Amino acid sequence: MPPFPAIAEAAALLRAGGLVAFPTETVYGLGADAADDRAVAAIYAAKGRPSFNPLIVHVAEAGQLDEEVVWNPAARRLARRFWPGPLTLVLPRRPESRLSLLCSAGLDSLAVRMPAHPLARALLQAAGRPLAAPSANRSGRVSPTTAAHVRRELGGRAAMILDGGPCAIGLESSVLDLSGAQPRLLRAGGLPRQALERELGPLASRIDNGQPLSPGQLPSHYAPSLPLRLNARTVSPDEALLAFGTALSGAADSENLSPGGDLTEAAARLFAALHRLDRPGFAAIAVMPIPMEGLGEAINDRLIRAAAPRPRSQS
Ligand code: AMP
Ligand code: MG
Repeated sequence: MPPFPAIAEAAALLRAGGLVAFPTETVYGLGADAADDRAVAAIYAAKGRPSFNPLIVHVAEAGQLDEEVVWNPAARRLARRFWPGPLTLVLPRRPESRLSLLCSAGLDSLAVRMPAHPLARALLQAAGRPLAAPSANRSGRVSPTTAAHVRRELGGRAAMILDGGPCAIGLESSVLDLSGAQPRLLRAGGLPRQALERELGPLASRIDNGQPLSPGQLPSHYAPSLPLRLNARTVSPDEALLAFGTALSGAADSENLSPGGDLTEAAARLFAALHRLDRPGFAAIAVMPIPMEGLGEAINDRLIRAAAPRPRSQS
């Protein structure tokens, strides 16, 4: 972990309207003062992110959100149970909230989270204000789980990159919408659906009438440059293999997400493995089947979208 002066410098950059990339337990985020329109606009520019895709606001303490969102009993209960941690809550935005309207991207809701990573918490404390922080990658690409990924993706677009080593969870937060009549899981993520359903009962699915419920949930996302071939039961010599459990043999190169078949380990390795295998010279990345239980839902969600056909201009 960097020494205290790095945190103080990063916090000063943020207070002056700069962009700072920092580690969280899920993936690396690209942070800006959530109340500063120009700083938040700079996030969209640095990522090449479509303006209709809202940002998650990160805080050190839940109380920092009292003037920004309307809490309800379910939200309070879940925040008490799962924060700090990989759960984002979508709540009605208070009309008087001073956070940039760009964070909401035109919606009347706000997505909020309290991260658990000690560096993220120290930075949020030192900045003394909520930070908007999407994943620190160019829009539509694989999320970064190391500082080196951030450097490769964003280069000099961040004023500073705090290096906290590899992210422990390695998948983005679960996004739960509590702004309507029914709780809805908008994005499977680092907190498994089963943990939320133990608190809330069965959750409505992410897709309603074929339309994504969350603006960021475009069909093609997390896209490596190479095509992905899912549920591979064989592999050809010109393919790279993303294995789970006992690896198929015969691939040109391979990464095993978890030789022992552990989904938590697989989640933590997923994006780094995609980053490493995504090199010219292979025909495709063949991906072995991954079970749907626990974090498997979020892993499969990312893989399905990484494999989806890509429109020319996409998120
Ligand atoms: P990222 O910050 O890159 O992990 O993406 C944030 C995700 O949260 C995207 O999929 C957004 O669409 C979703 N999100 C953020 N704010 C809202 C909101 N107000 N309503 C619904 N989804 C949201
Ligand atoms: Mg992202």
